[in-house]
Amino acid sequence: MATIDSAVGSKTQRVIDTFDRYVVPNYRRFPVCLVKGEGSRVWDAEGREYLDLFPGWGCNLLGHCPEPVVRAVQEQVAKLIHVPNTWYTEPQGEWAKLLSERSFGGQAFFCNSGTEANEAAIKLVRLRTNGEKYKIITFQGGFHGRTMGSVTATAQPKYHEGLGPMLAGFQYAPHGDLAAVEKLVDDRTGGILVEPILGEGGVVPAPPGFLQGLRKIADDRDLLLVFDEVQCGCGRTGKWFGYQHFGVVPDVMTLAKSLCAGVAGGAMLTTVELAKHLRPGMHASTFGGNPIAAAAGIATIRMIEEQGLLAHVDRAAEAFRTRLEALQNRCDAVRDVRVMGMMIGVELSIDCAAVVQACLDRNLLVNSTQGRVIRLLPAMTITQADVEDGCDRLAEAILEVASRTAA
Ligand SMILES: *Cc1c(COP(=O)(O)O)cnc(C)c1O
Repeated sequence: MATIDSAVGSKTQRVIDTFDRYVVPNYRRFPVCLVKGEGSRVWDAEGREYLDLFPGWGCNLLGHCPEPVVRAVQEQVAKLIHVPNTWYTEPQGEWAKLLSERSFGGQAFFCNSGTEANEAAIKLVRLRTNGEKYKIITFQGGFHGRTMGSVTATAQPKYHEGLGPMLAGFQYAPHGDLAAVEKLVDDRTGGILVEPILGEGGVVPAPPGFLQGLRKIADDRDLLLVFDEVQCGCGRTGKWFGYQHFGVVPDVMTLAKSLCAGVAGGAMLTTVELAKHLRPGMHASTFGGNPIAAAAGIATIRMIEEQGLLAHVDRAAEAFRTRLEALQNRCDAVRDVRVMGMMIGVELSIDCAAVVQACLDRNLLVNSTQGRVIRLLPAMTITQADVEDGCDRLAEAILEVASRTAA
């Protein structure tokens, strides 16, 4: 909901007026209209420049408008925009190959979003046993999307409010609690769905031994282990996929957000053996694997490799860690600092919405989640200077809100 704010410029106000009349008000928006971006910088309609530590809600993995991706899309869009999946196209096959070679050697089903990738995984779990083992265990604090299957899989009551009845067959366990999972498994359980690193849940890596324990339960009880890597996948953490930090390989993995560096695209990867259960006619996505998404997805992988960005992420993460831990040492309001490559959570004891606003006042874009965690999903291309500048502005904002709260 937009409010009339005297600081809002006239161009922005005109856009807000149009939204108020014509766009469904299901998002809370800041009274800022963004018009262009480059790398970790973005500009609004009034010409103000921002440092963006949350580009594209985690979708703009390589920052705004990365040149190789822009070029690949421009070339593809002039050649072939879309054809249905009744035909073969070169980019989709090449994209699947690149993903397979960097993960566990399986096959890809392509779609357009994270929630859709998870729906495919849910169907695969059910199809494997013809619906006999239909139950799926998920975890409190997880997030899997907004369509009815994925939102039911999301074990957070606030996302279910008013939507019932939810999809049958989901069971929830506390995050990290292997004994609870053991107890929930029965003859009807077919899968376990988990984020290796909780994203919306506050940037929380799986506790030591947790994913190994889930792998063992899945093997012992004949369940599919599904990793939702929509937020942590595709190089963001300094490895291609989050699971590679834990040494546990899933049967199924879902990807979206950063998969095409900001172009809409999603994928479900699974083994060749399991892929057979998604028989022709049982599942589909009209735009899935379209030439433009595929061209962007291929260009994303190639840019990460050609520019050595996985190694760069490790260096940038270290720089964030050093600065944020120094802040934690001099500011009681900082409870915890969690850095998994370019996936960063700063847990606070003060009102995070006020901190996000204080950052915006300093032309810095960040996000808050769970009411108590400042979440950063910076571009893999972020420079050392922008890490320092961003941490300085964030520190100022946190210290200001903390002093206001104490006063
Ligand atoms: C964002 C997100 C989703 C949903 O993705 P959409 O593209 O919005 O449907 C699913 N899982 C995780 C872990 C996410 O972060």
